[in-house]
Amino acid sequence: MKSIIEGFMEEVKVRNGHETEFLQAVQEVAETVIPYIITKDIYYGKNVLLRMVEPERAITFRVPWIDDTGEIRVNRGYRIQMNSAIGPYKGGLRFHPTVNMSILKFLAFEQVFKNSLTTLPMGGGKGGADFDPKGKSDNEIMRFCQSFMAELYRHIGPNTDIPAGDIGVGGREIGFLYGAYKKLRNEFTGVLTGKGMSWGGSLIRPEATGYGTVYFAESMLNTRDDSINGKTVLVSGSGNVAQYATEKATQLGAKVVTMSDSSGYIFDADGIDAEKLDFVMDLKNIKRGRIKEYIKKYPSAKFVEGKTPWNEKCDVALPCATQNELDSEDAKTLLAHGCICVSEGANMPSTHQAISDFHKAKILFAPGKASNAGGVATSGLEMSQNSLRMNWTREEVDNKLKQIMSDIHNSCIQYGKDEDGYIDYVRGANIAGFVKVADAMLAQGVV
Ligand code: NDP
Repeated sequence: MKSIIEGFMEEVKVRNGHETEFLQAVQEVAETVIPYIITKDIYYGKNVLLRMVEPERAITFRVPWIDDTGEIRVNRGYRIQMNSAIGPYKGGLRFHPTVNMSILKFLAFEQVFKNSLTTLPMGGGKGGADFDPKGKSDNEIMRFCQSFMAELYRHIGPNTDIPAGDIGVGGREIGFLYGAYKKLRNEFTGVLTGKGMSWGGSLIRPEATGYGTVYFAESMLNTRDDSINGKTVLVSGSGNVAQYATEKATQLGAKVVTMSDSSGYIFDADGIDAEKLDFVMDLKNIKRGRIKEYIKKYPSAKFVEGKTPWNEKCDVALPCATQNELDSEDAKTLLAHGCICVSEGANMPSTHQAISDFHKAKILFAPGKASNAGGVATSGLEMSQNSLRMNWTREEVDNKLKQIMSDIHNSCIQYGKDEDGYIDYVRGANIAGFVKVADAMLAQGVV
């Protein structure tokens, strides 16, 4: 088995040798899905996984824009249309200086499995630009988004490809992108998700990724007759996912003691309650400030510069910032401090070795493609509401989100339960996601 997986990875490396994040994501899937494929005649010998690692289409383009001083700047834009076997491409746009082909291909590949797990008819894609929104004025952001969409609009559409937000792309950016698309196409469609409430957005969409991550943690804890109530929780990040993971964990009775950004983390032993979270939301979403300003407002908290939160004691960890932010050393520290559950809000925040450490210790571990799927699932619900030209209530959307997270949890159990009863959520999510896409690809022929 090992040599078959190694042979497959060698073939993938020939074409993508320098794309380390993409190879990391493929390796994780290959290790769990290839042993399954080998036992199933319908998949064996059809090179389905080999077809899935090659994007159906990868577009790169120039994004020129003019900054506030009148200087002409140039960034690189991307859209990876990875797989459309079960529906139109769907996945976020990331604006961050680290964006490159490897990062977006890993995200697009993960997205294919994640979207399949949601049970909704969505293929996988991802895009973005190596543009840094930090420190830019609203006008600069608008000009950048308009230039980005001046090319992207040719490649997307409500039945072709429906982008959403990701790191650096929130409500403000979606608004500017949507305005530009509408002007170029002269039509009002559901082509982007994460829209504002008065122009086609869905209630609960901003909350969905963070809420879903906590719902998933709760489902995992329930399998051990436990719950998040009363638990001490570490959250990393302070953006969209981190904010709403903190909110839901607190609502369910947990104490969240950390949040972070790329400059360091804050630790508040008393817990980040609803009032303190309001302060963080205003700081990050409106004032666009840094997390360390938290300690000016709440001096009993501490700020630890340049570090991630994983050295602090906790029962539950929710990594909600970025890829590879939790390595093997962090995993060992978390385990030594008694952590029993890790639910990933971000995409691939734990390294391959860290995941292996969690598995060896048999703690509850959920990969982002399962635990953070609530965001894209609710984007799918936004698309349904746009097609119906209706708005569902907050309760309706939240109940559908809870149901979808519970269904994903059950799919992971179906394909991930070991003989000793331990649930390998990585294997469960990868196989469950694979089966639906593979079946559709086989039915549609070699295309
Ligand atoms: P935001 O841009 O709202 O927030 C990102 C947060 O992560 C910020 O606090 C940011 O800090 C921090 N961060 C980003 N890069 C780094 C880095 N290299 N090192 C340390 N901290 C970093 O993004 P989201 O909350 O939307 O996304 C967070 C994660 O969740 C990503 O992995 C994303 O792919 C994933 N995700 C998001 C979904 C969504 O619906 N938004 C859906 C599913 C997954 P700083 O401000 O300093 O950069």
